[in-house]
Amino acid sequence: MGGDISPLDVALEQLEIAAQILDLDSGVHVFLSRPKRTLSVSIPTKMDDGEVCVYWGCRVQHIDARGPFKGGIRYHPNVDLAEVTALAMWMTWKCAVVDIPYGGAKGGVCCNPKEMSKAELERLTRRYTNMLLDFIGPHRDVPAPDIYTDAQTMAWIMDTYSRFKGYSVPECVTGKPIILGGSKGRTEATSLGVMISVREAAKDLGVKLKRAAIAVQGFGTVGWNAAKIAHDWGAKIVAVSDSRGGVYNPEGLNPYKVFEHKEKTGSVLGFKKARREVTNEALLELKCDILIPAALENQITKANAGKIKAKILGEAANGPTTPRADEILSEKRIFVIPDILANAGGVTASYFEWVQNLTRERWTLEQVNQKLERILVKAFHDVDKTKSEEETNMRTAALLLGVGRVAEAIKTLGLWP
Ligand code: NAD
Repeated sequence: MGGDISPLDVALEQLEIAAQILDLDSGVHVFLSRPKRTLSVSIPTKMDDGEVCVYWGCRVQHIDARGPFKGGIRYHPNVDLAEVTALAMWMTWKCAVVDIPYGGAKGGVCCNPKEMSKAELERLTRRYTNMLLDFIGPHRDVPAPDIYTDAQTMAWIMDTYSRFKGYSVPECVTGKPIILGGSKGRTEATSLGVMISVREAAKDLGVKLKRAAIAVQGFGTVGWNAAKIAHDWGAKIVAVSDSRGGVYNPEGLNPYKVFEHKEKTGSVLGFKKARREVTNEALLELKCDILIPAALENQITKANAGKIKAKILGEAANGPTTPRADEILSEKRIFVIPDILANAGGVTASYFEWVQNLTRERWTLEQVNQKLERILVKAFHDVDKTKSEEETNMRTAALLLGVGRVAEAIKTLGLWP
């Protein structure tokens, strides 16, 4: 899939647009355009055959004016510093859009988890955590899962961090297994948030969610759970995909059955009830009402934006759309729910997990989902209102809210010394 611009260029261009409208002074703009701290590490890892592989990893901490840094850790063969920096910046705006007291960070390790054993992944994770020890912590920087990391990865991070502290510190990381203090609802929260914002947009546009045709790119934690929730709400999942390609059926696919098939075979490809297979590129251009990219950045570019047929684009992935593509989608009057709003359910539930850990409380699933619904519906309508007031699109409106709140926090803190 050809991107026409790197994620960091996208993030910087988005910041530029917001800075101009907000009339930020250049010092604040430059401050916001750079991470506060970047840690780059070499991670020697013993492989099962006794060889040592040295992996590259990093943690980028963007801005912590509104609270401790917060952001996921990605394991992927194409991870690089520019991508992780962009992802950290988006985390900062996202936390501000939903108004939770965090700054933005992101971590990455350049590796291919599909070719590594569980024991190798555990040793890599523990060594990486060891190298981040002085930079993370419950009041400093709280990691969470992202692509190819999960609750088990977070358990290893918690254990490593706790061993060094000498006592158990569940609040050092979120997205943990429930048995270790993870929050009920956290695994599904990103997807539930995506579907809540899609539901609100559908109401605005008069699109009926029941029987609406939905295509989902990426069938990992976020994509699969979004497909499941949409199916449970009566929508029709017409296509899903993973890194190897996708399956399509205009009559609808049962995501539970596709999930079972993927668990057995490792891919959605070959699912018997599909009408045909589609590439990841073709999936984006399918006839559908709602398109949910839930994989990587740079999927909707100037090359394919003109061919998108969906009425609503719910950005579950971070950075799936480039600024040139945004212009084309705006012209086509496609309603884009930007990533920093659409997928903010994940960090919001992470915040709930952190609060539960710090207060030693346990909330029920109903409590978690009620609070999530309240925060996300409010954020959606705050952004929608800004969109109308500023006569702009949802992305710029979300950036105006997010960047504006962070800039105000920086100015209010003042500059020391
Ligand atoms: P995951 O590892 O569980 O799933 C990723 C999925 O993308 C897999 O199905 C994989 O096969 C697919 N994929 C990988 N490369 C692909 C390619 N080139 N084309 C199409 N599909 C490809 O990761 P996840 O946690 O579900 O994250 C998905 C997206 O959601 C990412 O952009 C992530 O940053 C974003 N996100 C995740 C969370 C969260 O809570 N996990 C929160 C906010 C945003």
